Amino acid sequence: MEQTYIMIKPDGVQRGLVGNIISRFEQKGFFLRGLKIITVDRALAEKHYADLSAKPFFNGLVDYIISGPVVAMVWEGKGVVTTGRKIIGATNPAESAPGTIRGDFAIDIGRNVIHGSDSVESARKEIALWFPEGTVNWQSNAHPWIYE
Ligand code: UDP
Ligand code: MG
Repeated sequence: MEQTYIMIKPDGVQRGLVGNIISRFEQKGFFLRGLKIITVDRALAEKHYADLSAKPFFNGLVDYIISGPVVAMVWEGKGVVTTGRKIIGATNPAESAPGTIRGDFAIDIGRNVIHGSDSVESARKEIALWFPEGTVNWQSNAHPWIYE
């Protein structure tokens, strides 16, 4: 089944949004496969955002991601990459719809609370990068109540 890498950024952790954010993915019907709170070193943040290294906001972005602990997660379910991005909302919170995480909780693009993989291929790479120890393979008893 499809998996995605979701990360609550330092602002989301500091602002006490961890429980609310986890609830949104859980209540939708996605299953949690990995979860940890960690401090991020610069090398890991730079690797995660390597595709953006030429952007003018890159150094600020890396400083932001290493400014406090993050909550790293792997979520699983049908269409979780695309639906996860919808739950998160547009990159710029000014354009994120109300009801999305960024639409409800963020103002500035550089403090947009959460990361979600943008494709199945990115998810695969990001899960390998953030969870080299692997994730937990379990089947919820709710599975047949969510999937027909
Ligand atoms: N970002 C920023 N300024 C910009 C564009 C992006 O600070 O002009 C930050 C923002 O935190 C965003 C992250 O860089 O979430 C990664 O950018 P991307 O385009 O991958 O957006 P995302 O996939 O997070 O929606
Ligand atoms: Mg992205």
